[in-house]
Amino acid sequence: MGRLDGKVAIVTGAASGLGEADARLLAKEGAKVVVTTRKKLDEGKRVVEEMQKEGGEASFMKLDVSTEDGWKEVIEATIKKYGKLNIVVNNAGISVVKNIEQTSLEDWNNVMGINAAGVYLGTKYGILTMKDNGEPCSIINISSIEVHINEPNYFAYNAAKGAVKSLTKTAAVHCCEAGYNIRVNAVYPGYIYTPMMEQEARDWGLTLEQYKAKVAEEYCPIGHVGDPEDIAYAVLYLASDESKFVTGADFIVDGGISAK
Ligand code: NAD
Repeated sequence: MGRLDGKVAIVTGAASGLGEADARLLAKEGAKVVVTTRKKLDEGKRVVEEMQKEGGEASFMKLDVSTEDGWKEVIEATIKKYGKLNIVVNNAGISVVKNIEQTSLEDWNNVMGINAAGVYLGTKYGILTMKDNGEPCSIINISSIEVHINEPNYFAYNAAKGAVKSLTKTAAVHCCEAGYNIRVNAVYPGYIYTPMMEQEARDWGLTLEQYKAKVAEEYCPIGHVGDPEDIAYAVLYLASDESKFVTGADFIVDGGISAK
């Protein structure tokens, strides 16, 4: 028996990195998972095929999280296919390595449109879809440990992840006050090895190994960067009914960064 038997989940940005690990673990624990991504269509379909081969129930849908119509279409298709929605993991995001002086308005709008507005839309349409289904539901928003450490070279990124923190708590309280059986929580990953980290290494002009070593030394008391599964297990707990008393919470998974 899986920890998520009978539940239906949507995971955004699930063709790689943390989203892929989340989708795989949710399916392994019994959820029917809609794997969505904006651009990496072949990778998304490959992830679904592999999940199905492992015995999971999964399907692929294209979704640009910054588009309201995209959300409406994916939710409608999910309900048509699976009859309900219990879990949304708002994972999709982009990283831009620029301080405030380097950040253009275009950079700001781009990052905010995906990392903040994308999570707002996923949370809003998740609530609108889940509120009458009578089952326990959970929305998990992926913020970042940057909200706690404020690395100056991630100006727009950090601002967007701060918005995720605030909108998560506000939506969580709204659901409580409205009497909905929907919990809304945020996960704050520390430095995790994913394709995003490969991009950041390039942005810093370092090889991947150099960047991992720099990050581990400067930011990770535990001595190394994390694996996507480290985050996926936190997402699994928050998605499951084991966390039924947890809402509006900050779930930090960072190898000790924020403890310093
Ligand atoms: P990743 O680049 O592998 O995954 C991000 C995914 O989001 C990609 O598949 C990308 O195609 C998708 N995406 C980007 N824009 C999109 C859009 N508009 N619509 C739909 N999908 C879109 O990186 P990751 O490290 O797995 O990041 C996943 C999440 O975790 C992000 O929100 C990121 O900010 C957050 N995070 C990552 C780390 C880390 O160290 N890797 C740390 C803290 C937070």
